[in-house]
Amino acid sequence: MIPAAFEYYRPESLQDALSLLQTHGDDARVMAGGHSLIPMMKLRMAEVPHLIDLQAIADLRGIRVDGDTVSIGAMVTQHEVIESTDLLRAAPILREAALQIADPQVRYMGTIGGNVANGDPGNDMPGIMQCLGAEFSLIGPDGTRTVAARNFFEAAYMTARTDEEILTRITFPAHAGGFAYEKQKRKIGDYATAAAAVLLTKEGGTCATASIAMTNLSDVPVWSEAAAAALDGTACDSGAIAKAMAAMDGDIDPGEDNRGPVAFKRHVAGITLSRAITRAWSRA
Ligand code: FAD
Repeated sequence: MIPAAFEYYRPESLQDALSLLQTHGDDARVMAGGHSLIPMMKLRMAEVPHLIDLQAIADLRGIRVDGDTVSIGAMVTQHEVIESTDLLRAAPILREAALQIADPQVRYMGTIGGNVANGDPGNDMPGIMQCLGAEFSLIGPDGTRTVAARNFFEAAYMTARTDEEILTRITFPAHAGGFAYEKQKRKIGDYATAAAAVLLTKEGGTCATASIAMTNLSDVPVWSEAAAAALDGTACDSGAIAKAMAAMDGDIDPGEDNRGPVAFKRHVAGITLSRAITRAWSRA
């Protein structure tokens, strides 16, 4: 498994990376940690004659928590997410999820930006970003813009990002309530058969707000407004959880593959959601 020949670039500024992208057009691709892109190149499923490595661009790094606003540079690695005490306070669901991605070697290189820009339905961070209500900052030849995570994913490997744009930062509000990321996988290091992200807040013994997103159960991550609504005003008891599971089931669209048939995936999705709600509620 050797990739086709390519030219390698390591720009030190966003402007230089953008101009390389413009110069080489469809023949160029940016690389973050390379742990999704390089395997695709080795398998010859992606041919990238001009590979633009983002590692040396300082503007893409750093985790900032400013009051209630969290901002993570696209080149922050999954390992850095796990190690960040600021993120542990402001969005602990990220650490819980990042620890379930692959293995330490992958997490030392794989970035949060690459995980969402990739558009792979099996990636864990897209659903979590939808759950958190994150916004993605993009820079391109026409300047900068932001796209909500809930509007970013269009189909498998297709996102609202254009080929000339670079994802720079991910921003979302800090979350102080209960949280859980529950992932079912065939073995350690595997992508999810099904995973559920749940954030909720409790007031006076009932659920005041909830947000729910599911992973690898459709071509895109599924932010299920209906499942979250089923918890509103309830004590997240078994009846409310059953309603949330039924609502979520109506929103997902899993396909049969080597992780199992559709009925199995729907079953596993329900179990992961039920466990995630129960754990999030116990922490709220
Ligand atoms: P890259 O591979 O460098 O890039 C991925 C794609 O995103 C490319 O198309 C690239 O052009 C684009 N891109 C990257 N950064 C930017 C940017 N800033 N702006 C615009 N486009 C950009 N992931 C999971 O979520 N869950 C898992 O369980 C999991 N298991 C894995 C197991 C193994 C053995 C391996 C090798 C990988 C696994 N992964 C898993 C994937 C891993 O998390 C990847 O590192 C991640 O998905 C992509 O991040 P990256 O930084 O490596 O991106």
